[in-house]
Amino acid sequence: ETMINQIAAGEVIERPASVVKELVENALDAGARRIEVVTAGGGLSLIRVTDDGGGIAEPELALAVARHCTSKLSDDIHDIRSLGFRGEALPSIGSVARLSIRSRTAAGDSAAEIGIDGGHVSAVRPAAANRGTTVEVRDLFFATPARLKFMKGERAEATAITDVVKRIAVAFPAVRFTLAGSDRSTLELPAVTENDRLARVAQVMGAEFPDNALAIDAEREGVRLTGHVSIPSFTRANALLQYVYVNGRPVRDRLLAGAIRGAYADVLPRDRHAVTALFLELEPALVDVNVHPAKADVRFRDPGLVRGLIVGAIRAALAGAGI
Ligand code: ADP
Ligand code: MG
Repeated sequence: ETMINQIAAGEVIERPASVVKELVENALDAGARRIEVVTAGGGLSLIRVTDDGGGIAEPELALAVARHCTSKLSDDIHDIRSLGFRGEALPSIGSVARLSIRSRTAAGDSAAEIGIDGGHVSAVRPAAANRGTTVEVRDLFFATPARLKFMKGERAEATAITDVVKRIAVAFPAVRFTLAGSDRSTLELPAVTENDRLARVAQVMGAEFPDNALAIDAEREGVRLTGHVSIPSFTRANALLQYVYVNGRPVRDRLLAGAIRGAYADVLPRDRHAVTALFLELEPALVDVNVHPAKADVRFRDPGLVRGLIVGAIRAALAGAGI
């Protein structure tokens, strides 16, 4: 069982940033309005995510760390509204690290705690906590030393964690996010009123977000694209500032990146990248966001339609600005 979870961990948990992604998504699924992430050693020695969401009742704590136990499965696999649904993340993390979950529901009058240490589950014990959940992960990959060797160093892992939190935060402007690390990676994103994505994008990107960005709002056969893209003179040497969302999920997808590059093909050299915050919304049945357990890739029923929409909309915006 520990072995199976470690194999699953190899798929889902590539690096500390993958743990942060899974834990933050769980907090969002629990309806959290405030999410606090604390890390040390680039997340390899410590990741702690605290939320004020619905919590886990004491009898369910043991289930939360059991393989394929999820409280989120709906009848329709195409209509997944929650971010998680596989019931794989917590047991996977617990098989390769020291994990503890402390939680309290609104109805519960006390908190409870459970731990998994390299796959060994401890008994549930009483604890003290406010409503919500704190998940703490220490010594990531201590149980799989081969994996530990692949880590790029604390700085790089901390940067990847910051990037993950920023990408998710843009999709949830009404949630307050804080990130504090032992290094300089701190982030404070107060909740944005009226669910204003653009205001959150500006918070997240700061001066990296061009105030002369071009607005995008286009639709083709029920697929809608909104957001902002930079003019060609405002570009970067890497694509880190290309934020793309499909039905509210941050994605890093080759087709979408290629479409953005294609839109700028005539006005940008290949080694320069536009800054983008683009939101694609379409019928859930027309897209599979679950190609890979880490869920950053997507598969469209009609890739040509999506590509055409993106290229067309960005080119129209550039043309409208006389570019
Ligand atoms: P999944 O998210 O795919 O359901 P996970 O392994 O990530 O699987 O989590 C297992 C279960 O633990 C979830 O279905 C949920 O019921 C519970 N859970 C995990 N994290 C939290 C949290 N922060 N708040 C409330 N419940 C949580
Ligand atoms: Mg999950």
